Amino acid sequence: MGIQVTDLHMLRDQLVVRRQKLETAVARTETANLLQLLEQVDRALERVDHGSYGVCEVCKTSVEAERLFADPLTEICLDCLKPSEQRALEQDLNLAARIQAGLLPKRGFSAAGWNVAYHYEPAGQVSGDYFDYIKVDDERLGVAIADVSGKGIPASLIMAICRSVLRSQAIGNPSPADVLQKVNRQLYPDIKEDMFISMAYLVLDHARSAVTLARAGHDAPLLYRAKSKTVEQLKTPGMVVGIDSGDVFDRLTTDVAVELEAGDCILLYTDGITEALDNEGNEFGLERTTAAFRSSAKEGAQAMVNRLIDDLRNFVGSTPQNDDITLITIRKT
Ligand SMILES: [Zn+2]
Repeated sequence: MGIQVTDLHMLRDQLVVRRQKLETAVARTETANLLQLLEQVDRALERVDHGSYGVCEVCKTSVEAERLFADPLTEICLDCLKPSEQRALEQDLNLAARIQAGLLPKRGFSAAGWNVAYHYEPAGQVSGDYFDYIKVDDERLGVAIADVSGKGIPASLIMAICRSVLRSQAIGNPSPADVLQKVNRQLYPDIKEDMFISMAYLVLDHARSAVTLARAGHDAPLLYRAKSKTVEQLKTPGMVVGIDSGDVFDRLTTDVAVELEAGDCILLYTDGITEALDNEGNEFGLERTTAAFRSSAKEGAQAMVNRLIDDLRNFVGSTPQNDDITLITIRKT
């Protein structure tokens, strides 16, 4: 898809500013590199004025909008790049994937009466899914799961910002709702109109055998009760992060505390699971998710993960994965 008129104005402004900076730099030290850049900016501004900005110089189709945002001087669409240029892009993407992998927990968690496991599987090289364990204080562990709208590099950038903000707010704060409210206020100005983040954040209280949960528009976590062998949805109120500056978000988002007994389990997941499709276009759905969760709950956190992923794989068969998949299982021991 090509770029919008409002984006075009924004990119033009950026180009004008860049031109001024370059002119100043050229005036100081006239180097071939700077002069070449200045020429590129002038060419881009010319294309804006002639209405041909964002059109591939080679094949005359639209240049990918996200590449123009990353570099307003882009003149050629992806398909028309030289093999060496395509390889360079590929290397950037590999590096981004490695950096992102470093931002996620490396293993499950087993301590202080809790057994936690996870499965994380991006659909592409980088992902908009995010999950984390955060030590709130000596008595509490925070567990977060989030899904950034969209995919690829833009979603992974927002994911990285979200992680930093959540981590800085979560430490020392036992109220998930308060943490999410602060995260939303801090992220709102940085998120573009068409993006948002759904999140569920819960705090495990070691001493009280309880969990406190708040939800920002994320799929409701599932709670398995060992005594009754039943599963319920933890539907706490709330809205997604990034679309309200704070007043409405704060009013809606509240903490819900749940007491847990030994053997009780919680499942957090992103919609990459429930919305996974088989080759006839049917969704895996909440019912199959719930059934897999219930039938494996007594076997522990890792067994629940394995069962869910097995059932999902059997269901989708050879249909390619089209969304990031993250799930976290928590068992009170
Ligand atoms: Zn082209």
